[in-house]
Amino acid sequence: MKSISLLGATGSIGQQTLDIVKEHPEEFQITALSVGKNIEKTKEIIRAFQPKLVSLQLEQDALALQKEFPQIGFTFGKQGLIDVATYEDSSYLLNAVLGSVGLESTLAAIRQKKAIAIANKETLVTAGHLVMSEAKKYGAPILPVDSEHSALWQSMVGENPKSISKLILTASGGSFRDQSREELKNVTVKEALNHPNWSMGAKITIDSATLMNKGLEVIEAAVLYDMSYDDIDVVIHRESIIHSLVEYHDTSVMAQLGTPDMRTPIQYALSYPERLPRPNAQRLDLAKIGQLNFKNVDFDRFRCLGFAYEAGRMGGTILTVMNAANETAVAAFLDGKIKFLEIEDVIDRMMQQHDNSLNPDLETILHVDEETRKTVKSMLK
Ligand code: NDP
Ligand code: MG
Repeated sequence: MKSISLLGATGSIGQQTLDIVKEHPEEFQITALSVGKNIEKTKEIIRAFQPKLVSLQLEQDALALQKEFPQIGFTFGKQGLIDVATYEDSSYLLNAVLGSVGLESTLAAIRQKKAIAIANKETLVTAGHLVMSEAKKYGAPILPVDSEHSALWQSMVGENPKSISKLILTASGGSFRDQSREELKNVTVKEALNHPNWSMGAKITIDSATLMNKGLEVIEAAVLYDMSYDDIDVVIHRESIIHSLVEYHDTSVMAQLGTPDMRTPIQYALSYPERLPRPNAQRLDLAKIGQLNFKNVDFDRFRCLGFAYEAGRMGGTILTVMNAANETAVAAFLDGKIKFLEIEDVIDRMMQQHDNSLNPDLETILHVDEETRKTVKSMLK
């Protein structure tokens, strides 16, 4: 039985993780979990999964739930995320919290030698060098949950990493893949949230529409697999059936295919090296799909992917600036405060005016993250 600490239990990945735990009660149990502000859903989860420790974003919510569930431990805020991530009865951390707020809890769990199943890509983007070096030092496995990185991983098992020549990430193209740059000017939040293939949280759905999600994933791939940015390609693949590919130096290309269902990579991260059955899941029917399409990305129509390659190649605090500017700008777009293409403008401006420093420590990263958010917020006022 694997005991799991789950960060972000009320979110899209969190809920699908709970589905997997429910599908395999003999394999997995949730010992501790964190949520944000969704109290009703939290109560349902507590009743269904009986965790021993629960963290809420706000102290008053933790105090209120403590009265209702006196047998359970409650904690809150940033420290709450760390308490859940390092909960002693858990051997796994599944980090599905949203944004770079997941960084410190990931590092804390690594130091407790937990296996880290990571969906929280912002953590790997902002502080990938720290996460990977600490993981190596403490012997904590980093298990990707993101479907592309899971596909790369599954296409590498048993291979010699030295024979890999290229990583190829597939991108659906997001909600606006058929729109011209001109048409992007006045798109609405509702249109942006309408993803053609995947059902996901709001922030990542917007990131998919700007292609920043693919940019974050290029960085995530460089960090996880120690690859040069010159050897990471992105290809538009509308059907989201091939989840990513690895090219080897003998020209062979290995790929992982499946229906667009995040529960499969979530389960693989938790069950590895085993594969567990998913009897009720939709299976891939290639004849029904008929054809798979591929084309190159237009870097002029969607500028965020270019920003990510640029920041990734530079390394250092510029990665934190890009990520924090994106998180803040996307939140502003979702709030109706800025237009879709202004997300790019905000990131561009923040990156241009940043004085980069290489190999930042945790303190520096947290400082730059906070400063960037403040500057963007005052810029948008
Ligand atoms: P959601 O927005 O659906 O869920 C986010 C979760 O984090 C919720 O539980 C939310 O709580 C909680 N949360 C948000 N902000 C805070 C905070 N400041 N403090 C504590 N908890 C907080 O996001 P997703 O599930 O879509 O994404 C989660 C992560 O996984 C992201 O990093 C994303 O990029 C990544 N990912 C997601 C995929 C997907 O298919 N959704 C695919 C691959 C990666 P509450 O709702 O209770 O307020
Ligand atoms: Mg992905």
